[in-house]
Amino acid sequence: MNKTKAYAAASAKTPLAPFTIERREPREHDVCIDIKYCGICHTDIHQTREEWGGSSFPMVPGHEIVGIVTAVGSKVTKFKPGDKAGVGCFVDSCRKCPHCHDGLEQYCDVRAIWTYNARDWEDQPTFGGYSERIVVDENYVLHVPDHLPLDASAPLLCAGITLYSPLRHWNAGPGKKVGILGLGGLGHMGVKIAHALGAEVIVLSQSLKKQGDARRLGADALYATSDEATFTKLAKHFDLIVNTVSTGLDWGKYLGLVKVDGAMVVVGVPSEPISLQPRPLILGRRTLAGSVIGGIRETQEMLDFCGKHKIVSDIELTPIQKVNEAYDRVVKSDVRYRFVIDIASLKAS
Ligand code: NAP
Ligand code: ZN
Ligand code: ZN
Repeated sequence: MNKTKAYAAASAKTPLAPFTIERREPREHDVCIDIKYCGICHTDIHQTREEWGGSSFPMVPGHEIVGIVTAVGSKVTKFKPGDKAGVGCFVDSCRKCPHCHDGLEQYCDVRAIWTYNARDWEDQPTFGGYSERIVVDENYVLHVPDHLPLDASAPLLCAGITLYSPLRHWNAGPGKKVGILGLGGLGHMGVKIAHALGAEVIVLSQSLKKQGDARRLGADALYATSDEATFTKLAKHFDLIVNTVSTGLDWGKYLGLVKVDGAMVVVGVPSEPISLQPRPLILGRRTLAGSVIGGIRETQEMLDFCGKHKIVSDIELTPIQKVNEAYDRVVKSDVRYRFVIDIASLKAS
């Protein structure tokens, strides 16, 4: 076992603080990665603060992991020392069910083993990327395009794939009108990817504050959801809305912005149940759907797509010692547009 410096939440009520974990000795199919950067996803906040229930502590969050391969097991064929590598939201799955066979491991019938706040097949807790090292089976590790800046690539591993997958599944592309609801970590990746796919992109944000940013990121326009006129102007406008908002909203109101036969896909995960007036669904044959991240094959496809289009995240690099402040700023929608932890800072902890 390798002792590894990390940052952990000891409970839902305590700030994250230095902690030591042990990483397993590499097995024959394992890849050992020196973590260089890890993004801060809003999910890290939901889970360390136990907003969804069922959190297990101590918790080392982080599932937007990029780093350099330092060693590989004897049977590894996909990676070699020195390679750039990424790890996203899960580190294993059953590998046998129909979804695993189809490259949709995130929907594994047994379970996807989440990168943190989970237990592996040996019933050991999994610890995420707020740490110096990680050891993962090669089949669950991604190749990060060499020419992309490594720090700004980290958020692709969750925010990037979480938007890429529904945008592809619901055919965002030329001639399609796509709405991105919430311009945060997920939302800003959605704007970049939907624009690169050739769709018309409109951001729906709480205010007009992020209008300039939205345009710069590739959006055609931004409308404020605090302005009731937005809901008449954009009634039945969208083929697809991807809802990235992390708190409860009146979903029925947003469904009114979707065309007949269009869809609103929810990726943001509020802690409270949502009540929905079904009339906008029925009267527009609209679909209300959900989506979680993407499988390994699709995540690699997304990374290659981002490599081709030179898409990375807009990041604010932070030392790990400021992670609790960063969390508070994410909750206040005060991040442009993703915090990424410089893991080198862990040495000083
Ligand atoms: P984030 O950076 O905090 O972005 C969320 C955005 O939602 C904010 O920037 C804000 O955008 C908007 N928003 C926040 N509070 C709001 C409110 N009260 N009313 C209306 N809009 C509000 O978070 P994130 O990392 O993108 O994650 C978003 C959600 O997706 C979280 O719940 C997270 O757990 C979930 N998630 C899901 C998946 C998945 O696979 N389904 C993957 C990763 C994360 P504006 O300022 O533009 O309004
Ligand atoms: Zn995430
Ligand atoms: Zn499976």
